[in-house]
Amino acid sequence: MDGFMKGRIKIFTYGCQMNDLDSLKMHSGLSTLGFTPTQETAEADIIILNTCSVRQKAYEKAISNLGRLKSHKSRNPSLIIAVTGCVAQQEGERIRERMPHVDIILGTHQLHRLPDLIEHVHNASYPMTETDFSESIPSMDIVPDQGLSDHPHRSYINIMQGCDNYCSYCIVPYVRGHEVNRDYKKVLNEIGLHASRGVKEVFLLGQNVNSYNGGITFPGLLRGIHGIEGIERIRFTTSHPKDVSDGLIDCFKDLDKLCSHIHLPFQSGSDSVLKAMNRHYTHHSYLGLIEHLRSARPDISFSADVMVGFPDESKQDYLDTLAIIKTVRFDVLYSFKYSVRPGTAAAAQLNDNVSSEVKIERLKQLQALQKRITFENNQARIGKIYEVLVDGISPKNPLQVHGRTSQNAIVNFLGDQGLIGKILPICITRANQNSLTGEMA
Ligand code: SAM
Ligand code: SF4
Repeated sequence: MDGFMKGRIKIFTYGCQMNDLDSLKMHSGLSTLGFTPTQETAEADIIILNTCSVRQKAYEKAISNLGRLKSHKSRNPSLIIAVTGCVAQQEGERIRERMPHVDIILGTHQLHRLPDLIEHVHNASYPMTETDFSESIPSMDIVPDQGLSDHPHRSYINIMQGCDNYCSYCIVPYVRGHEVNRDYKKVLNEIGLHASRGVKEVFLLGQNVNSYNGGITFPGLLRGIHGIEGIERIRFTTSHPKDVSDGLIDCFKDLDKLCSHIHLPFQSGSDSVLKAMNRHYTHHSYLGLIEHLRSARPDISFSADVMVGFPDESKQDYLDTLAIIKTVRFDVLYSFKYSVRPGTAAAAQLNDNVSSEVKIERLKQLQALQKRITFENNQARIGKIYEVLVDGISPKNPLQVHGRTSQNAIVNFLGDQGLIGKILPICITRANQNSLTGEMA
């Protein structure tokens, strides 16, 4: 592979933070071997599509982007095209039936095999597919090179993969497999290593971090990380409301490094829809949880996921969803139209009977409501001072830097390269729709 090792890689990443981290790990592994990144697809020797199939739209996007790469392969037959992530896991060999220009299909448990497979394809010009599930997931233990990240002082950390919850609409248990927990000592070691290299914030990742059990409980893990010198901020995602324990709520009381933010997807405000979704909480219990978290950490900020148009969702069910939004007043809300995912319980047992027009209209109204709340929440921050961890130069203004508050709000203010990685007190001077502007206090 000598000359080839100096080749250029282009990675397209779709979906969640888990995929961002997987891409960084693939990038790190290939950089160690001598490959360098390129922004230009036409210049690449290896193109990787790290895909998401959680919603039909994400799946279609990955497939259509793969289709577009065919012309690159015709121009450059030695180009290696790899598909990784959830679509690779879901479709396996079927991808190549439709897209014979794809060289490597790599499932969610097999990412560590990428360098070997690239070498194999390069030497033998023979396509490879690896989509087996395994009891342990070796890529969870790959420590990425934070220097390659666009936020070098904030590191994503895998603590678990997969999910055993089987929410009726969700494909994740089928494409990421059963819940596999990473041993807590490995998690703490990785974080210690990042801290020694200048990382200040860790962002723990799992499909349901509250059910973590890698030798200690999730609150135990948070307390362990809190003791690591150099780490100043701890975040995590995602939390399932049914598994938020008193121990976790106590962490918000006790641990000052734990950021004042929790992402708590509620999916629907209707008890009958929640039951059909297999979510195991109610409208009332969700709001109770929000109250508990607020009394433990008064300045806590909430974000969530919600969907409209689940099978049999009535007008009243939808109004119950809006009622949650009005009561909680989330800072950020990710909202989706329900889409049928193959292999799920909802696909097999329920009729996708809310029309596309109704889904679109409900989503539009819901997003307009949330847009107003987000802006009002941002306005209420004017004049207040927040600690901001500076991530980098603002993409839209080279004279500004951007960073995040403990509440996870994005703040832009005048500054330069030298501020990156610092935590600074910033006074908010302006509210924008999705960010804040400030000045050093
Ligand atoms: N584990 C997280 C949880 O329990 O909430 C979320 C995982 S999923 C990757 C991210 C979000 O996608 C979900 O919270 C849900 O709102 C949305 N989603 C999942 N399946 C969906 C479907 N079939 N149709 C529309 N949205 C869906
Ligand atoms: Fe999907 Fe539910 Fe697991 Fe989240 S908790 S990944 S929504 S099955």
